[in-house]
Amino acid sequence: MKDNIKYTLNNRLCLGCGICQSACPSKAISISVSQGCFIPQVDETKCKNDKGCHRCYDVCPGLGVDLRRIAKEQFVDKEIKTDKWVGCYLKCFTGHSNDEDIRYHCASGGMVSQFLIFLLEKRYIDGAVVTAFDPKNELLVCSYIAHNREEVLQAKSSKYAPVSLHGMAQAIKQENGTKYVIVGLPCHIQGFRKLEAIDRKLREKVIGHFAIYCSSGRTFYLTEHVFKERGIRKEDLTYFAYRDEGCLGSLVTKQRRGIRVANSNSETALYKEDEVYKERFQSYYHPLRSFFIPRRCLFCIDHYGELGDVCFGDIHIKPYMEDRIGVNSLIVRKRQWLDLLEEAKSEGFITLDEIPVETLNASQMMAGKKKGRNIRFIALNKHLGKVMPYYDITYPNHIGVKTMINYVQNRAQQFLGKHKNLWWLITLLKKDTSNLE
Ligand SMILES: Cc1cc2nc3c(=O)[nH]c(=O)nc-3n(C[C@H](O)[C@H](O)[C@H](O)COP(=O)(O)OP(=O)(O)OC[C@H]3O[C@@H](n4cnc5c(N)ncnc54)[C@H](O)[C@@H]3O)c2cc1C
Repeated sequence: MKDNIKYTLNNRLCLGCGICQSACPSKAISISVSQGCFIPQVDETKCKNDKGCHRCYDVCPGLGVDLRRIAKEQFVDKEIKTDKWVGCYLKCFTGHSNDEDIRYHCASGGMVSQFLIFLLEKRYIDGAVVTAFDPKNELLVCSYIAHNREEVLQAKSSKYAPVSLHGMAQAIKQENGTKYVIVGLPCHIQGFRKLEAIDRKLREKVIGHFAIYCSSGRTFYLTEHVFKERGIRKEDLTYFAYRDEGCLGSLVTKQRRGIRVANSNSETALYKEDEVYKERFQSYYHPLRSFFIPRRCLFCIDHYGELGDVCFGDIHIKPYMEDRIGVNSLIVRKRQWLDLLEEAKSEGFITLDEIPVETLNASQMMAGKKKGRNIRFIALNKHLGKVMPYYDITYPNHIGVKTMINYVQNRAQQFLGKHKNLWWLITLLKKDTSNLE
């Protein structure tokens, strides 16, 4: 008999994506925060696992996914090509929003937000699942269905924090609309693909899967650590972005620190002015990368979002790297979305230029790392008798000493990131990358 989602948790393979909650017909799964990550909790009195229900297990991307098989089934255009790193693709592009404000304030070039706005305004879609900061807790994030420009832009820019899409499948099915797009990390898209395979109603309504490239996720502790080092109090925040103001942008926070205005009834008018803090993305983010990566991300081999119909990322290569406003790279895998991107371009919403897949790969060091290093990490852990995620790929037989050292280094860094009383060591050990371009 298959287990329920506790199998994933017990084997420390949970991604915190929340898909299991959406799959559960008995409403037995809830999502909560534990040690800086989202985790599912199973109410055993409601769980029907003993009666043969294991939908949560079946849809879990933490346990792996048939990347190649699903891609082959989904991307059937006769002009589809295959690349070692990108997987299936029709065309690759660079591009950006033609709205300078969107381009400047979004993560890369604002392509995700601008394309969604185009699709909503032209009524090609009824809604899109996006992720914004939680208005009740600035360190947490929440996902919802955006129906218009304002709701899309509320979710702009990258969230370097765990994102759970629980409740989103139910929300889509409950709405009257018929055409929805999911925006998510590669693991979110994998989870939705798995869920759609067993949920016809959802499959009929989700017409697009937009993946954002992902080198790896980050725990909530990353933000907590960054704020702690800089003396930023989340209670005082009136604005927060991991990446704002250009490419690659800066951490921007606005905090209520001004003079209290007497006799004011309005919460926002209590203080005369906000104190603004800005720090370049490379300066605060890069030194902390490995300390706050969830364990499961070390075993992920999907950098680009290989099951996404369209995938969006940065482009870390000259001359694009010199752009200071914002620029994206994109991978398109379905003709329907290629045509709509071309239409958005011809109507002046976006700029789009085709690039060779080699240029894209040259700009994404992590793509190779994930498919090389992380496959070896999986193989190493299998040798050690650990339960590992399944992918339909071939694993190496030989695991070098370098892989072992690299793995131990990564796990040691994660250990420090997990234990707040050891954070002072992170401050000592992290590399200074403030000079990075
Ligand atoms: C954890 C993480 C790692 C990344 N790693 C890389 C990388 O290695 N290389 C690279 O080129 N790009 C990476 N990206 C993608 C990059 O940061 C941009 O998100 C992407 O280029 C889209 O930019 P944009 O301006 O078009 O998006 P925007 O127009 O700003 O829109 C961003 C959209 O992404 C959604 N979103 C943001 N954060 C999350 C999240 N954590 N989970 C789910 N949805 C989210 C929002 O809902 C929003 O709709 C990463 C992003 C994240 C969140």
